Amino acid sequence: MSSPLLSELIDALRCLPGVGAKTAQRMAFHVLERDRIGAKRLADQLAAAVERIGNCARCRTFSETAVCSLCAGPSRDQSLLCVVETPVDQLAIEQATGYRGVYFVLLGRLSPLDGLGPKELGLDALSQRLGEGVVQELIIATNPTVEGEATAHMLAQLARAAGVRASRLAHGVPLGGELEYIDRGTLAHAFGGRQVL
Ligand SMILES: [Zn+2]
Repeated sequence: MSSPLLSELIDALRCLPGVGAKTAQRMAFHVLERDRIGAKRLADQLAAAVERIGNCARCRTFSETAVCSLCAGPSRDQSLLCVVETPVDQLAIEQATGYRGVYFVLLGRLSPLDGLGPKELGLDALSQRLGEGVVQELIIATNPTVEGEATAHMLAQLARAAGVRASRLAHGVPLGGELEYIDRGTLAHAFGGRQVL
């Protein structure tokens, strides 16, 4: 490489998800050849975001303030608490549904092999919150993976211990889907979770 800085840039770009050596190389050459202004803006925004975005003290989602606007907002129903694995899952629910309750973000899922236990997921804070008597329903929206299901099981136990009703998102047949093309696991899950009409 003609420039050590260029090598280092390519190497740094590989921290992005889905970016391998070849893509990183293409990105680095692209910005230097065609968009130095955009690259400067990206660098500034990355630096600002990494420096100034922390986690909400109440729900643990990304926030620039100690308590996020959603937790502090008077319009949200504090009796409904939805637990998600990541801030991006929270965003997906916000964008797709008319949910008006509040959230708790685990920032992970139960995964002992990766060193993620109840403490890392903030479950002590969640228990304390359930014990405050405000939350009436805990909506468990962890992913339908093995680890997500194990996490959901633990969350349901916490809710039961606090005398709070727990519910789990329904999983199954996608809208517009046809049964014959759906994988067996999904179909079995949907069949097991059928609802009375
Ligand atoms: Zn919050």
